[in-house]
Amino acid sequence: MRDSWHESDEVSLHGARCAIGPQETFRASIHIAGGHLTQVVRDGTMSLPLVSGETEIDLSGFLLLPGLVNAHDHLQFALYPRLGNPLYQNYIEWGEDIHVRFPEVIAKHKSVPKDVRLWWGGIRNLLCGVTTACHHDKFWSELQKREFPIKVVRHFGWGHSLALGGDLRAARCATPEGSVFILHACEGVDDQARDEVFELYRLGLLDAHTVLVHGLAMDHEGVALVQERGASLIVCPSSNMFLFGKLPDMNLLGKIESVALGNDSPLTAAGDLLDEVRFAIRSCSITPESAYRMVTEAAATILRLKDGEGKIRILGPGDLVAIRDTGHNAASRLQTLSMIEIEFVMIAGRVQLASEEVWKRLPSQVKEGLEPLLVEGVVRWLRAPVKELLRRAEEVLGAGEVRLGGRTVCSPVLQ
Ligand SMILES: [Zn+2]
Repeated sequence: MRDSWHESDEVSLHGARCAIGPQETFRASIHIAGGHLTQVVRDGTMSLPLVSGETEIDLSGFLLLPGLVNAHDHLQFALYPRLGNPLYQNYIEWGEDIHVRFPEVIAKHKSVPKDVRLWWGGIRNLLCGVTTACHHDKFWSELQKREFPIKVVRHFGWGHSLALGGDLRAARCATPEGSVFILHACEGVDDQARDEVFELYRLGLLDAHTVLVHGLAMDHEGVALVQERGASLIVCPSSNMFLFGKLPDMNLLGKIESVALGNDSPLTAAGDLLDEVRFAIRSCSITPESAYRMVTEAAATILRLKDGEGKIRILGPGDLVAIRDTGHNAASRLQTLSMIEIEFVMIAGRVQLASEEVWKRLPSQVKEGLEPLLVEGVVRWLRAPVKELLRRAEEVLGAGEVRLGGRTVCSPVLQ
């Protein structure tokens, strides 16, 4: 039986320092029941009353962060390599070109069963501490399964883009009441990409429910229009740099009130969301504090997540990530953080990922259902059918040829 760990189980985490904001931390014990934080008790103030039968995990020496929110991904492309022969003028040119240049690569990867590719998309995010991702495509049944390794945003409407999105007005009408409508826009560097935001306005598709992805080609007028309409933006800088040789101008785009950071699929983006964060801080003059918010609270607000994602707080979800505590705050850690340092991930109170060190500390009932994966020379224990997923991907791509955001993944030889 894979799944003996239920959301309703009670669990307490002890000994860690908790990031309650980009710069604020305190040492606390956390109690989780029914998938949510029910108590956060500062160490030294009082002790948590013991609940009989609850699971205790010692995380001393670690810093707990809220689970990260990846505001933009296409989960089915996780195993693909970066494809393109840049530079391009816009996304339409790129899309057409890769089908001419790389038909064999595309056909090969497409023949990996879609459910397997989607699971690897979940794992790519899980490995870097993402607990919620916004998947920009159909909400396929695989993503709806309770055992899918991360939470996938469900309630929103979407279209691909003006050029490739079909009937966007119909898609907007089909968007659930109160939810956002997300589409790629202004992805490129030419006039056509620049003018998309004005066309969206003419079509009645630019309002406070609209979330634009990329916005790279937007000029001052476009940004002013987005501000006036109250729309939001998700930027994906590493993808933009790869395809167009240009970075989002955050002096301009930063004027938009709500901006999040997304890690587009490996077809165009850097390895994972933490690679994206480091890239954005280094290359786009985004401060570590802003970057922290753009992958936690700001992303959750833009996507209108209802469960309190993006922050460690009472009644918020039991979505937590742990890294070794070096004494620094969360924002400053983001400047250098990579997936290798993500040693513990919990979603709705369930342990989804553990490093070997954390694995040793887990009670035996929590270890049940976790399988090891070797990535970047480290072992990660994941709540996923890793062996089976590797076998099915290797069947098509070849042994030792499975790469996740460019990183080779394989079965570890365990001692
Ligand atoms: Zn995209």
